[in-house]
Amino acid sequence: MIGDIMRISRLRMGTDGQGVTTLVAFFDCPLHCKYCINDFCHEKEDYSESVPRGEYTPAELVRILRKDDIYYKMSGGGVTFGGGEPLLQSAFIHEVCKRADPDWKIRVETSLNVPWRYVEPVLNDIDEWIIDIKDSNWSIYKKYTGVSIHNLIDNLIRLEDLVDASKIHFRIPRIPGFNNEENVKESIEWVKRFFDVEPEVFDYTKTQDIHKGSWLEDHYKPKY
Ligand code: SF4
Repeated sequence: MIGDIMRISRLRMGTDGQGVTTLVAFFDCPLHCKYCINDFCHEKEDYSESVPRGEYTPAELVRILRKDDIYYKMSGGGVTFGGGEPLLQSAFIHEVCKRADPDWKIRVETSLNVPWRYVEPVLNDIDEWIIDIKDSNWSIYKKYTGVSIHNLIDNLIRLEDLVDASKIHFRIPRIPGFNNEENVKESIEWVKRFFDVEPEVFDYTKTQDIHKGSWLEDHYKPKY
């Protein structure tokens, strides 16, 4: 089994959960958010272009992750799977988790807008679900992401019975030109019906111009 990875970024702090983390970012995403800073994650089939990509087996990835084992354990950190949409490669993530040290914290940054079959394989692997809600208003959601909110709703209903609230971290963005304070308040109330946790509200701001391939930092094993 192979993971289609666009970035492995080591020794991160304060951006992907508690402690020192390694971010493993995957290609592909079912959403097409208007302000996506990783838009090149969609260039799945375009191997000839300048989008670097890496293929790793679960064992190869765990070997890289082990380099920072001591930092994870000292800080309560671990591995964060992001993207793109990491759950599209949940079978691979599950294989990585089987080989990971049980003391590492395993997190996933997801829109949760995937069919349930992609969520199921990692149900017992994830210590923290960082869920980017976008907006609970169906029309705003569709306008901003280009897709329906239905999978997200379906997955929240299922997760409610299967995952403890202490593992859930909701993120709700203020999206310029798409939602307003009233919409954000409605989204907060909406997610609390599933899990009674205080969501993180944040602003989408354009902070950097990211060019194709420039995300690759520490490890890059070319596919071609
Ligand atoms: S969910 Fe994330 S990766 Fe996917 S299109 Fe939206 S911002 Fe981009």
